Amino acid sequence: MTNATGKINLLGLTQPKMEAFFDELGEKRFRAGQIMKWIHHFGVDNFDDMTNVSKALREKLKLRAEIRAPEVVSEDISKDGTRKWVVRVASGSCVETVYIPQSGRGTLCVSSQAGCALDCSFCSTGKQGFNSDLTVAEIIGQVWLANKSFGTIPAKMDRAITNVVMMGMGEPLLNFDNVVDAMNLMMDDLGYGISKRKVTLSTSGVVPMIYKLAEVTDVALALSLHAPNDELRNQLVPINKKYPLSVLLEACNAYMSRLGEKRVLTVEYTMLKDVNDQPTHAEQMIELLRKTPCKINLIPFNPFPHSGYERPSASAIRQFQDILHKAGYNVTVRTTRGEDIDAACGQLVGQVADRTRRSERYIAVRQLAADEQADSPHVAVR
Ligand code: SAH
Ligand code: SF4
Repeated sequence: MTNATGKINLLGLTQPKMEAFFDELGEKRFRAGQIMKWIHHFGVDNFDDMTNVSKALREKLKLRAEIRAPEVVSEDISKDGTRKWVVRVASGSCVETVYIPQSGRGTLCVSSQAGCALDCSFCSTGKQGFNSDLTVAEIIGQVWLANKSFGTIPAKMDRAITNVVMMGMGEPLLNFDNVVDAMNLMMDDLGYGISKRKVTLSTSGVVPMIYKLAEVTDVALALSLHAPNDELRNQLVPINKKYPLSVLLEACNAYMSRLGEKRVLTVEYTMLKDVNDQPTHAEQMIELLRKTPCKINLIPFNPFPHSGYERPSASAIRQFQDILHKAGYNVTVRTTRGEDIDAACGQLVGQVADRTRRSERYIAVRQLAADEQADSPHVAVR
C-alpha cells in the first residue's frame, strides 16, 4: 500500500481501511468520509484543495500519505464519443481503459492486471504473458481518471460513468483482493455510488475464486465461454483443463442462485471462423446452458497479427445467433465503434504501439460491455 517514499496511497483505500488509517493517525474516523468525498467525488489529489480539513491535518497527511492515480500515457476520444486511456502502472507496464457512451448510460471497461497468465489462444493480452497485478489504487485509479475527465461528480443522476465492467486486460479473479476492494469503492456512496447490478466481473473460469467471490460480493458475473464442449474449450481457454465445463457451470449457477431470480449470467462467446462458429456449436451451447439463466453476447473476433484466427462472416454470425434465439436465448452481437481512435493508437511507437492489438480487442469488449448493461431485463425466455 505504501510507495517507495513510504507514503500510503489514499486513492486505493476502502472506507474501513481509510477509517483504520485515521485511527492510526490519532484522528477522528469521520475524516475518512470527508477525504473519500474529496478524492472520488471531486477528483482532488492535492491535500491543500481540501478546504474543510484543517491546515494542521493537511500537513500531517502530506507527510504520511498521497493520492496518486496511474500516469496517463495517452487519451483518445473517438468521434462517436468513445474514449480510450493508456495508463502506466508501477511495474512499468501499460494497461488500457475504455469508456463507451450509450443513450442514458456510460460504461467503463477497466483492467485488473498488466498482461495475463491464462493464455487464451485468441487473446492478445494472453499472448504477452503475465506482467503484474494492478494495485487497488491502479484499478480504481482508472475510474478516478475517467471520471475526472468528465469534470467530477455533480449529482448522482448526472454521472457519466453509470456502469463498470472488469473486462479490460487481465483475469480479475487472479487479482482477487485488489479487484474486490476496487469494486467495493466503485459501489460505495463515498466512492462512485454505482449499483451492484452495474458492476460486472468477467472471468474465463477460475472456479474456486467464483465460490470465493460469492462470499464477499454480489456484483454481476460474466463468463467467457467461447466453446460449448471441453475438447474445444481446452484448446481455446487452457484453464478449462483444470476446471472443465461441468464444474465451471456449477460454480456459475451457484453464484447466480445467491443473487436472486432477476439476475442472469452473461455468457461471452468470441466467434472464431471455422473454429467455434458452426451450427453444431450453437446446438451444443443450447444443451450446455439449459440449466443456466443467462443472456449471450456474441463477440466477433478482433484479429491481431499472427493470431491464426479469423472473424466469421456476418451471415455465419447471424445464423449462429438465430439458432440460439429460436431456442429462447437473449442473444446480442455488436459491431465495432471508435475505429478512428484505434487508428490513432496504431500510429504510436514502441511499447505503446504494441498495445494497438489489444485496442482492437477492447473495442469489441467495449461493445460487449455496453450491451451487457442494456436497460432491458436480462431474462432469457425459454
Ligand atoms: N480475463 C477476463 C476478462 C478480460 S477479457 C476474461 O477472459 O473474461 C474480456 C473478454 O474479451 C473475454 O470474453 C475475452 O475472451 C474477450 N477477447 C479476448 N480477445 C479477444 C479478441 N481478439 N477478439 C474478441 N474478443 C476477445
Ligand atoms: Fe486472460 Fe481473459 Fe485474455 Fe484469457 S481472454 S488470456 S483470461 S485476459
